Amino acid sequence: MSGNDALPPNATIGIVGGGQLGRMSALAAARLGYRCHILTEEADSPAAQVSAGATIGDYEDPAALGRFADAVDVITFEFENVSAAGLELLAARKPVRPGPHVLRISQDRMAEKTFLNATAGVATAPFALVETLDDLHAAAARLGLPAILKTTRLGYDGKGQARLTTPADLAPAFARLAPKPLILEGFVDFTREISVIVARGGDGASVAFDVVENRHRDHILDLTLAPAPIAPTTAAAARAIALRVADALDLAGLLAVEMFEDRDGRVLVNEIAPRPHNSGHWTIDACPASQFEMHIRAVAGLPLPPAVRHSDAVMKNLVGIEETALWPQILATPGLIPHLYGKKDARPGRKMGHVNRLFAKGALPGESGIAQALGPLGPRV
Ligand code: AMP
Repeated sequence: MSGNDALPPNATIGIVGGGQLGRMSALAAARLGYRCHILTEEADSPAAQVSAGATIGDYEDPAALGRFADAVDVITFEFENVSAAGLELLAARKPVRPGPHVLRISQDRMAEKTFLNATAGVATAPFALVETLDDLHAAAARLGLPAILKTTRLGYDGKGQARLTTPADLAPAFARLAPKPLILEGFVDFTREISVIVARGGDGASVAFDVVENRHRDHILDLTLAPAPIAPTTAAAARAIALRVADALDLAGLLAVEMFEDRDGRVLVNEIAPRPHNSGHWTIDACPASQFEMHIRAVAGLPLPPAVRHSDAVMKNLVGIEETALWPQILATPGLIPHLYGKKDARPGRKMGHVNRLFAKGALPGESGIAQALGPLGPRV
């Protein structure tokens, strides 16, 4: 397969990563007539359970990466943190979509924010690289407090972060997070967190789903509201930003752009993820072509249909032990559309599945209506 040629039916798409994003991508790929082959560290991973094949091995092991590349026709990711050397190895053997340059940017918060400001021309929180405690004092003086100190790499769901409120917080936070490279970000006093998912083909054609609002609990996504209840001008700005970032990356694949709407109605990018995203799970049931189908189409060089929504939707994650235990009640509640990821053991903070609830277009209810519509999950929101 080369250039923008469409991947023929029955070809094999290699997915790096064995989690639920790979699982739902593989299910969408199967509908389009493709097989998936997963690179995963765990034999019984959610993605491998529903795929034609798997290579079980370490993401950094050249032998495993080589075996995986030999088994597939094109490669994509649901897990981004493969080393530069690993990416080179994969890209030397098979087309990798999105390309390694996109992963290198999204893996590192400094590279990401620098790219967003300087190349894509979109606004983020102000930021500074922090290598020493002196750097941190200088950055805090420049950006002001509160501010958020983050590891530049491998942070997710609020891990590898510290909120700095007073000068006394600086030294302990630095001691906890260093010697990893760190970034200090100015605190955004946001009214809500929003995101947009863009699919872009190798030919440069792109589509963007509607802007959604994301609510977190304990730093983990809890609820997505589609569409976000925001002013049309804000929604248009957020979609334009996401499309602009995808173009600036010369993306072939899927991109989630997480943003803040601040008190002045400005939209600032928080981070990007060049893969399917938890904030796009509502598209499985509320759109003719979900984010997972768009992902597979973009990677396979197929045309991208419009990213339209036939319904409004709320997505509620099932996280940890208590919410997963509500499974029988969820199944017994009309209107709740269940998705479980095939993970054996529920653990605190582990994403075990999600539930979508659809509403007529334009009829997304208010807070109490959402809680009521979620039935047994209502008291959890
Ligand atoms: P992240 O891992 O960068 O997505 O951060 C996790 C969460 O921390 C975000 O979803 C926000 O709720 C919060 N957060 C991160 N960065 C900032 C910031 N610069 N200002 C305010 N809140 C932030």
